Amino acid sequence: MRRRCLRLGLDIGGTKIAATVISAEQDILWQFTTSTPKQQLNDFLLCIQQLVQHATTEVGTLSHIGIGIPGVVNDQGVLNASNMGAINQQPIGTLFKKYIAQPFSIENDANCFALAQAHGHQLAENEVMFVAVLGTGVGGAWVLPNRTLWAGAHHLAGEWGHTPLPDLSLIPKSQHITCQCGQQGCIDSYLSGTGFSQLYYQESGVKLDATTIISRYRNQENTACDVFNRYIQYLAHALATIIQTFDPNCIVLGGGMSTIQELYQTVPQYWSKYTLKPPTTDLRPPIYGEWAGAIGAALLG
Ligand SMILES: [Zn+2]
Repeated sequence: MRRRCLRLGLDIGGTKIAATVISAEQDILWQFTTSTPKQQLNDFLLCIQQLVQHATTEVGTLSHIGIGIPGVVNDQGVLNASNMGAINQQPIGTLFKKYIAQPFSIENDANCFALAQAHGHQLAENEVMFVAVLGTGVGGAWVLPNRTLWAGAHHLAGEWGHTPLPDLSLIPKSQHITCQCGQQGCIDSYLSGTGFSQLYYQESGVKLDATTIISRYRNQENTACDVFNRYIQYLAHALATIIQTFDPNCIVLGGGMSTIQELYQTVPQYWSKYTLKPPTTDLRPPIYGEWAGAIGAALLG
Protein backbone atom coordinates (compact mmCIF):
# COMPACT_ATOMS: atom_id res chain seq x y z
CA MET A 1 0.00 0.00 0.00
CA ARG A 2 1.31 3.46 -0.92
CA ARG A 3 2.28 5.50 2.11
CA ARG A 4 0.01 8.50 2.62
CA CYS A 5 1.79 11.77 2.03
CA LEU A 6 0.38 14.18 4.60
CA ARG A 7 1.54 17.79 4.75
CA LEU A 8 0.91 20.17 7.62
CA GLY A 9 0.67 23.90 7.01
CA LEU A 10 0.97 26.42 9.85
CA ASP A 11 -0.07 30.02 9.25
CA ILE A 12 1.45 31.93 12.18
CA GLY A 13 -0.10 35.35 12.68
CA GLY A 14 0.30 38.05 15.30
CA THR A 15 -2.82 36.83 17.14
CA LYS A 16 -3.56 33.27 16.01
CA ILE A 17 -2.07 30.21 14.35
CA ALA A 18 -4.15 28.37 11.73
CA ALA A 19 -3.14 24.77 11.04
CA THR A 20 -4.27 22.45 8.26
CA VAL A 21 -3.24 19.05 6.91
CA ILE A 22 -3.62 18.25 3.22
CA SER A 23 -3.30 14.88 1.50
CA ALA A 24 -1.20 13.96 -1.55
CA GLU A 25 -4.38 14.60 -3.56
CA GLN A 26 -4.50 18.03 -1.88
CA ASP A 27 -7.72 17.33 -0.02
CA ILE A 28 -8.07 19.15 3.30
CA LEU A 29 -8.05 16.52 6.08
CA TRP A 30 -7.77 18.58 9.26
CA GLN A 31 -8.08 22.20 10.40
CA PHE A 32 -7.36 23.78 13.76
CA THR A 33 -6.70 27.23 15.23
CA THR A 34 -5.09 28.42 18.44
CA SER A 35 -3.86 31.76 19.77
CA THR A 36 -0.21 32.73 19.18
CA PRO A 37 1.79 32.66 22.45
CA LYS A 38 4.23 35.38 21.44
CA GLN A 39 5.13 36.75 24.88
CA GLN A 40 7.60 33.94 25.64
CA LEU A 41 9.75 32.27 23.01
CA ASN A 42 9.67 28.91 24.81
CA ASP A 43 5.85 28.90 24.97
CA PHE A 44 5.74 29.60 21.25
CA LEU A 45 8.11 26.74 20.39
CA LEU A 46 6.18 24.32 22.64
CA CYS A 47 2.94 25.42 20.97
CA ILE A 48 4.36 24.58 17.52
CA GLN A 49 5.58 21.21 18.80
CA GLN A 50 2.14 20.45 20.29
CA LEU A 51 0.38 21.43 17.06
CA VAL A 52 2.57 18.97 15.14
CA GLN A 53 1.78 16.24 17.70
CA HIS A 54 -1.94 17.08 17.60
CA ALA A 55 -2.04 16.88 13.79
CA THR A 56 -0.14 13.57 13.85
CA THR A 57 -2.59 12.10 16.36
CA GLU A 58 -5.57 13.25 14.30
CA VAL A 59 -4.49 12.23 10.78
CA GLY A 60 -1.24 10.21 10.90
CA THR A 61 2.47 10.62 10.19
CA LEU A 62 3.36 13.93 8.53
CA SER A 63 5.82 14.01 5.63
CA HIS A 64 6.47 17.79 5.65
CA ILE A 65 5.63 20.90 7.62
CA GLY A 66 5.27 24.28 5.94
CA ILE A 67 5.41 27.36 8.15
CA GLY A 68 4.11 30.74 7.06
CA ILE A 69 5.10 33.70 9.21
CA PRO A 70 4.92 37.51 8.86
CA GLY A 71 8.13 39.35 8.03
CA VAL A 72 11.32 38.00 6.59
CA VAL A 73 13.50 35.07 7.67
CA ASN A 74 17.07 35.77 6.55
CA ASP A 75 19.62 33.25 5.27
CA GLN A 76 20.73 32.59 8.87
CA GLY A 77 17.14 31.64 9.81
CA VAL A 78 16.57 34.80 11.91
CA LEU A 79 13.07 36.29 11.85
CA ASN A 80 12.52 40.01 11.32
CA ALA A 81 8.85 40.71 12.14
CA SER A 82 8.11 43.61 14.47
CA ASN A 83 4.58 42.39 15.39
CA MET A 84 5.76 38.98 16.63
CA GLY A 85 6.79 39.93 20.19
CA ALA A 86 9.42 37.64 21.75
CA ILE A 87 9.75 35.68 18.50
CA ASN A 88 11.08 38.70 16.59
CA GLN A 89 14.85 38.63 15.91
CA GLN A 90 15.07 34.97 17.00
CA PRO A 91 16.84 32.29 14.93
CA ILE A 92 13.61 30.34 14.42
CA GLY A 93 15.09 28.27 11.60
CA THR A 94 17.58 26.74 14.05
CA LEU A 95 15.17 26.61 17.00
CA PHE A 96 12.45 24.75 15.07
CA LYS A 97 14.97 21.95 14.35
CA LYS A 98 14.99 21.15 18.09
CA TYR A 99 11.20 20.94 18.26
CA ILE A 100 10.17 19.50 14.89
CA ALA A 101 11.40 16.08 13.76
CA GLN A 102 9.96 16.28 10.22
CA PRO A 103 11.45 18.21 7.29
CA PHE A 104 10.09 21.76 7.31
CA SER A 105 10.16 25.00 5.29
CA ILE A 106 9.60 28.58 6.45
CA GLU A 107 8.12 31.19 4.12
CA ASN A 108 6.70 34.70 4.36
CA ASP A 109 2.93 34.58 4.99
CA ALA A 110 2.03 36.67 1.91
CA ASN A 111 3.95 34.17 -0.23
CA CYS A 112 2.02 31.28 1.36
CA PHE A 113 -1.23 33.12 0.64
CA ALA A 114 -0.10 33.56 -2.97
CA LEU A 115 0.74 29.88 -3.34
CA ALA A 116 -2.74 28.96 -2.11
CA GLN A 117 -4.28 31.35 -4.65
CA ALA A 118 -2.19 29.91 -7.49
CA HIS A 119 -3.42 26.46 -6.50
CA GLY A 120 -7.03 27.48 -5.94
CA HIS A 121 -7.24 29.50 -9.15
CA GLN A 122 -5.54 26.64 -11.03
CA LEU A 123 -2.78 28.83 -12.43
CA ALA A 124 -1.50 27.12 -15.59
CA GLU A 125 2.14 25.98 -15.85
CA ASN A 126 3.20 28.92 -18.01
CA GLU A 127 1.18 31.61 -16.22
CA VAL A 128 2.27 34.40 -13.86
CA MET A 129 0.17 35.75 -10.98
CA PHE A 130 0.52 38.84 -8.82
CA VAL A 131 -1.20 38.89 -5.46
CA ALA A 132 -2.00 42.38 -4.16
CA VAL A 133 -2.80 42.33 -0.45
CA LEU A 134 -4.90 45.34 0.59
CA GLY A 135 -5.24 44.87 4.34
CA THR A 136 -4.09 46.92 7.32
CA GLY A 137 -1.08 47.55 5.09
CA VAL A 138 -0.38 46.87 1.41
CA GLY A 139 1.78 43.91 0.46
CA GLY A 140 2.15 41.56 -2.44
CA ALA A 141 3.67 38.40 -3.83
CA TRP A 142 4.64 36.94 -7.19
CA VAL A 143 3.98 33.44 -8.48
CA LEU A 144 5.96 32.60 -11.62
CA PRO A 145 5.46 29.70 -14.10
CA ASN A 146 5.20 26.22 -12.55
CA ARG A 147 3.69 27.94 -9.49
CA THR A 148 7.12 29.02 -8.27
CA LEU A 149 7.25 31.78 -5.66
CA TRP A 150 9.49 34.72 -6.51
CA ALA A 151 10.64 36.73 -3.51
CA GLY A 152 13.37 38.52 -5.46
CA ALA A 153 17.10 38.89 -4.97
CA HIS A 154 16.59 40.79 -1.70
CA HIS A 155 13.13 39.55 -0.55
CA LEU A 156 11.65 42.82 -1.83
CA ALA A 157 9.67 41.58 -4.85
CA GLY A 158 6.18 42.01 -3.37
CA GLU A 159 6.80 45.27 -1.51
CA TRP A 160 4.96 47.50 -3.99
CA GLY A 161 3.12 49.10 -1.03
CA HIS A 162 6.20 51.19 -0.32
CA THR A 163 6.53 52.65 -3.79
CA PRO A 164 4.98 56.05 -4.58
CA LEU A 165 1.27 56.23 -5.39
CA PRO A 166 1.17 56.96 -9.17
CA ASP A 167 -1.59 59.57 -8.68
CA LEU A 168 0.23 61.40 -5.87
CA SER A 169 0.59 64.54 -8.00
CA LEU A 170 -3.24 64.81 -8.15
CA ILE A 171 -3.47 65.02 -4.35
CA PRO A 172 -2.88 68.42 -2.68
CA LYS A 173 0.43 68.44 -0.79
CA SER A 174 -1.40 69.23 2.45
CA GLN A 175 -3.14 65.83 2.15
CA HIS A 176 0.01 63.78 1.54
CA ILE A 177 0.40 61.08 4.17
CA THR A 178 3.68 60.06 5.81
CA CYS A 179 3.94 56.27 5.76
CA GLN A 180 5.04 54.11 8.70
CA CYS A 181 8.17 53.33 6.64
CA GLY A 182 9.15 57.02 6.79
CA GLN A 183 8.49 57.91 3.14
CA GLN A 184 5.73 60.23 1.95
CA GLY A 185 3.03 59.21 -0.51
CA CYS A 186 3.47 55.41 -0.38
CA ILE A 187 0.78 53.23 -2.00
CA ASP A 188 0.37 51.68 1.47
CA SER A 189 -0.89 55.00 2.87
CA TYR A 190 -3.77 55.24 0.36
CA LEU A 191 -4.74 51.72 -0.75
CA SER A 192 -4.70 49.90 2.61
CA GLY A 193 -7.93 49.69 4.61
CA THR A 194 -6.39 52.26 6.94
CA GLY A 195 -5.52 54.49 3.99
CA PHE A 196 -9.07 54.26 2.65
CA SER A 197 -10.40 55.38 6.06
CA GLN A 198 -7.88 58.22 6.05
CA LEU A 199 -9.07 59.39 2.61
CA TYR A 200 -12.62 59.53 3.96
CA TYR A 201 -11.44 61.35 7.08
CA GLN A 202 -9.64 63.98 4.99
CA GLU A 203 -12.87 64.65 3.06
CA SER A 204 -15.38 64.54 5.91
CA GLY A 205 -13.52 64.99 9.21
CA VAL A 206 -15.20 61.75 10.35
CA LYS A 207 -13.23 58.61 11.25
CA LEU A 208 -14.95 55.45 9.99
CA ASP A 209 -13.74 51.95 9.17
CA ALA A 210 -13.65 50.73 5.57
CA THR A 211 -16.75 48.52 5.94
CA THR A 212 -18.89 51.44 7.13
CA ILE A 213 -17.64 53.71 4.33
CA ILE A 214 -18.51 51.06 1.73
CA SER A 215 -21.95 50.67 3.26
CA ARG A 216 -22.41 54.45 2.94
CA TYR A 217 -21.18 54.26 -0.68
CA ARG A 218 -23.86 51.64 -1.41
CA ASN A 219 -26.41 54.01 0.11
CA GLN A 220 -25.09 56.69 -2.28
CA GLU A 221 -23.69 59.08 0.32
CA ASN A 222 -21.84 61.75 -1.69
CA THR A 223 -18.59 61.78 0.30
CA ALA A 224 -18.37 57.98 0.38
CA CYS A 225 -19.00 57.87 -3.41
CA ASP A 226 -16.27 60.48 -4.06
CA VAL A 227 -13.76 58.72 -1.82
CA PHE A 228 -14.48 55.24 -3.21
CA ASN A 229 -14.22 56.52 -6.80
CA ARG A 230 -10.84 58.04 -5.95
CA TYR A 231 -9.77 54.75 -4.34
CA ILE A 232 -10.74 52.85 -7.52
CA GLN A 233 -8.73 55.28 -9.68
CA TYR A 234 -5.69 55.07 -7.43
CA LEU A 235 -5.85 51.27 -7.29
CA ALA A 236 -6.35 50.96 -11.06
CA HIS A 237 -3.33 53.19 -11.74
CA ALA A 238 -1.16 51.38 -9.18
CA LEU A 239 -2.06 47.97 -10.65
CA ALA A 240 -1.52 49.32 -14.18
CA THR A 241 2.13 49.95 -13.29
CA ILE A 242 2.37 46.30 -12.17
CA ILE A 243 0.81 45.17 -15.47
CA GLN A 244 2.99 47.49 -17.51
CA THR A 245 6.15 46.32 -15.71
CA PHE A 246 5.62 42.57 -15.41
CA ASP A 247 2.41 41.80 -17.36
CA PRO A 248 0.98 38.97 -15.21
CA ASN A 249 -1.84 36.76 -16.51
CA CYS A 250 -3.92 37.50 -13.46
CA ILE A 251 -3.98 39.58 -10.31
CA VAL A 252 -5.63 38.25 -7.15
CA LEU A 253 -6.59 40.65 -4.38
CA GLY A 254 -6.19 39.78 -0.70
CA GLY A 255 -6.73 41.48 2.65
CA GLY A 256 -9.87 43.17 3.99
CA MET A 257 -10.41 45.45 0.96
CA SER A 258 -10.59 42.37 -1.32
CA THR A 259 -14.12 41.68 0.00
CA ILE A 260 -15.46 44.76 -1.86
CA GLN A 261 -17.11 43.10 -4.86
CA GLU A 262 -17.40 46.36 -6.85
CA LEU A 263 -13.61 46.41 -7.33
CA TYR A 264 -13.56 43.39 -9.64
CA GLN A 265 -15.62 45.06 -12.37
CA THR A 266 -14.62 48.68 -12.03
CA VAL A 267 -10.83 48.51 -11.54
CA PRO A 268 -10.15 46.66 -14.85
CA GLN A 269 -12.34 49.23 -16.65
CA TYR A 270 -9.97 51.97 -15.48
CA TRP A 271 -6.54 50.36 -15.61
CA SER A 272 -6.40 50.28 -19.43
CA LYS A 273 -6.31 54.13 -19.27
CA TYR A 274 -2.75 53.76 -17.99
CA THR A 275 -1.35 50.93 -20.14
CA LEU A 276 -0.04 51.18 -23.70
CA LYS A 277 -2.70 48.74 -24.87
CA PRO A 278 -5.77 47.35 -23.09
CA PRO A 279 -4.68 44.32 -21.05
CA THR A 280 -6.77 41.16 -20.72
CA THR A 281 -5.40 40.61 -17.20
CA ASP A 282 -7.93 38.95 -14.90
CA LEU A 283 -8.65 40.59 -11.56
CA ARG A 284 -9.88 37.88 -9.20
CA PRO A 285 -11.11 37.63 -5.60
CA PRO A 286 -9.20 35.41 -3.17
CA ILE A 287 -10.35 31.92 -2.28
CA TYR A 288 -10.00 29.63 0.78
CA GLY A 289 -10.96 32.49 3.15
CA GLU A 290 -9.09 32.52 6.47
CA TRP A 291 -7.47 29.15 5.66
CA ALA A 292 -5.56 30.40 2.60
CA GLY A 293 -2.30 31.02 4.49
CA ALA A 294 -2.29 27.58 6.12
CA ILE A 295 -3.16 25.81 2.85
CA GLY A 296 -0.37 27.72 1.08
CA ALA A 297 2.07 26.76 3.85
CA ALA A 298 1.07 23.09 3.47
CA LEU A 299 1.72 23.38 -0.28
CA LEU A 300 5.36 24.37 0.43
CA GLY A 301 6.13 20.67 0.93
ZN1 LIG B 1 5.90 53.22 3.00
